[in-house]
Amino acid sequence: MTVNLLNFDQPALASYFQELGEKPFRAKQLMRWMHHFGASDFEQMTDIAKTLREKLAQQAVIQPPAVHVEQVSDDGTRKWLVDVGNQNGVETVFIPEADRGTLCISSQVGCALECTFCSTGRQGFNRNLSVAEIIGQLWVANHSLRQADGYDMLPAGERIISNVVMMGMGEPLANYDNVVTAMRIMLDDSAYGLSRRRVTLSTSGLVPAMDRLKEDCPVALAVSLHAPNDNLRDEIVPINKKYPLAELMAACQRYLVKAPRDFVTFEYVMLDGINDTLQHAKQLLDVVKDVPCKFNLIPFNPFPDSGYDTSRSDNIRRFRNVLMQAGYVVTTRKTRGEDIDAACGQLAGKVQDKTRRSERRARKIPIGVAL
Ligand code: SF4
Repeated sequence: MTVNLLNFDQPALASYFQELGEKPFRAKQLMRWMHHFGASDFEQMTDIAKTLREKLAQQAVIQPPAVHVEQVSDDGTRKWLVDVGNQNGVETVFIPEADRGTLCISSQVGCALECTFCSTGRQGFNRNLSVAEIIGQLWVANHSLRQADGYDMLPAGERIISNVVMMGMGEPLANYDNVVTAMRIMLDDSAYGLSRRRVTLSTSGLVPAMDRLKEDCPVALAVSLHAPNDNLRDEIVPINKKYPLAELMAACQRYLVKAPRDFVTFEYVMLDGINDTLQHAKQLLDVVKDVPCKFNLIPFNPFPDSGYDTSRSDNIRRFRNVLMQAGYVVTTRKTRGEDIDAACGQLAGKVQDKTRRSERRARKIPIGVAL
């Protein structure tokens, strides 16, 4: 059977080579060719013996997911719709800034967690992405950006993507094993060599998986908070019913013992009249009081039938001021790539919904009731 080597981190690749009767150090060489230089053809790997290259070509491939559509915004933001088979697609977004280039990666086809303001959550859930499909998004983006810059392979040491955020479609901690393996490849010096501070995982708050992550692969942590009390969060981020705010804050504190940064970033989508009053801001200060943190306020990007409007800019400003006056660092996310729908919450992709969520909604059958 042909194996896709993009599914392997370095230890798995070393075992693969051992099974072939080859020395484990070949894994390091191959990681470098695949990820550092972006090679997909074994013939390019000139420091690997020809006989081994031929053997690899017979039984393995380096196969990133195909790109269905690539769009480039006027502001330089790029979005790829990555084909993950069976008429499904996930989206990957590159955001260039003066001092960094950030890639936002998807982890699942759709999402099962049903946050009410989220375009992905509205579409239902199909499946988890494989390691090759997750790390493949970084591979594909690097490849495309290199070509745009006129390189076939990047000179050693050069990097266009400096930061990765696991904030695209899906809840990354619900696809734990594949996401952690992909992040280990991102951190591997023979592959992408990103520091743990430059890889951020954003979760809606799967507490047991947060505890595992701090042991297995403690990267920077962002938490999709979006509400300052349990009543409201139960409604708009339903996983809160399972892991309410007090448990989530305690998990954040535990995470920070191992985290590469000494703060958690709380993401807060600004929904007009829902979670954006001064009282909400004051409640929020109380909720997070024991967690060193920063806030990222995200003006909501409306999508058809969302039922929400984005907060008025003066309300966002007032909300931000309450947090800043309490001494917190607050950023308000700029909308990037508006002309290509690349903004947060607009990543639609193409999801064949196995959870039949839209059907349920139309028939008003409560989620969780088996059909
Ligand atoms: S916000 Fe994140 S966890 Fe919630 S439904 Fe959307 S993708 Fe899933």
